[in-house]
Amino acid sequence: MNCPYCGYHDSKVIDSRNVNGGIRRRRQCLSCSSRFTTYERLQPASLFVIKKDERREEFSRTKLLTGIRKACEKRPLPTGTVDKLADDIEAELYHLGKAEIPSAVIGDMVMERLKSLDYIAYIRFASVYREFTDITVLKQEIDTLVSSETKISTPTSQLPLLPDDKLEEPAGSHRRSRK
Ligand SMILES: [Zn+2]
Repeated sequence: MNCPYCGYHDSKVIDSRNVNGGIRRRRQCLSCSSRFTTYERLQPASLFVIKKDERREEFSRTKLLTGIRKACEKRPLPTGTVDKLADDIEAELYHLGKAEIPSAVIGDMVMERLKSLDYIAYIRFASVYREFTDITVLKQEIDTLVSSETKISTPTSQLPLLPDDKLEEPAGSHRRSRK
């Protein structure tokens, strides 16, 4: 920034502090030694989503949240999980620093996270987002999940498909008839 007094192009910072989410810098002109102040603040950039049909739509956290919430409906996830997930994705999107992001990128981000969170929610989301028109494609996706399940250990947050205790009766639990 040029000196407001003499127009010289360079200055040194003599003091710097955080104020209201921005940075205030006290500067001194290297030519005329005048002092002036600059503020640096993050511009909340508006983010646009490029839809499949090339239309642009302003990014909506509410919309993202609704989609995730729908997929996670009635799933036994800890309170706040859905909001946290939306927050994470939103932060990551802004962190990309782009003005426009294809909806597919956002969809993939959601899917990736849901996959490690809850398979049912993942499949639900994927079936809407990927528009499984063919049941075979859906089956393939589930088969992939099941086969990866056997290779890697189940994440602790993942509910088992069948509770272990239902698989066999515990030893010594034979019933005595009272009749
Ligand atoms: Zn100056």
